[in-house]
Amino acid sequence: MSFAATILTLFPEMFPGPLAVSLAGKALTSGLWSLDIRDIRDSATDRHRTVDDSPAGGGPGMVMRPDVLAAAIDAIGEDGRPRLLMSPRGRPLTQTLVKDLAAGPGAVIVCGRFEGVDERVIERRNLIEVSLGDFVLSGGEPAAIALLDAVIRLLPGVMGRPESASEESFEDGLLEQPQYTRPRTWEGLEIPEILLSGDHGAVARWKREQREALTASRRPDLWARYRDRNH
Ligand code: SAH
Repeated sequence: MSFAATILTLFPEMFPGPLAVSLAGKALTSGLWSLDIRDIRDSATDRHRTVDDSPAGGGPGMVMRPDVLAAAIDAIGEDGRPRLLMSPRGRPLTQTLVKDLAAGPGAVIVCGRFEGVDERVIERRNLIEVSLGDFVLSGGEPAAIALLDAVIRLLPGVMGRPESASEESFEDGLLEQPQYTRPRTWEGLEIPEILLSGDHGAVARWKREQREALTASRRPDLWARYRDRNH
């Protein structure tokens, strides 16, 4: 069974976008995942097809209406897939969450616009808020594309060599070590000698040291968690 993604958006023309290219695009064509794009505006009921209204209590911008968004969600029905709402207030997207999603049947992903969505629809339709990071996008669409990109590359059959995923940043709580390729000397800089030594044990030790040092200096938060788990 392939991973089924459904996107609820006010800008369906943004999809599949980058997801039609390269690894994700090939996987889409070969049926390793599927993409169902729903225009939230199709669920509007008034003559003007209104999807938003001004915020209760005042304030700038507009808020997505709960009734219209709920109707769009209900048109999909409950099928066991998690329902996500891309949101800067959400749980941060991590490789752990990406892996959990990739192991499941798919996801229904709601893309917010304007100032966001009415709180009641989040509550009543059990939307899991997921954030791409501590910054504000103009809409959830780029966040949904990033999330799907991360999930799709983990689906069985998508990546040529499954082990290429296992040595990467975050897989064991560490960032990745520096990487090199030919030419051996470039602008006077050499590839570290040890990588050319053919000594697999020494290479593995070097990689681990580099990953630990890099994580400790760049990401004290990840480093503290890693040390708690491994000591
Ligand atoms: N007023 C909101 C921001 C709304 S931005 C606030 O201050 O929190 C409009 C939409 O963009 C959001 O509804 C959400 O779907 C999307 N979005 C913005 N930043 C995001 C982020 N960091 N991660 C995921 N989605 C985001």
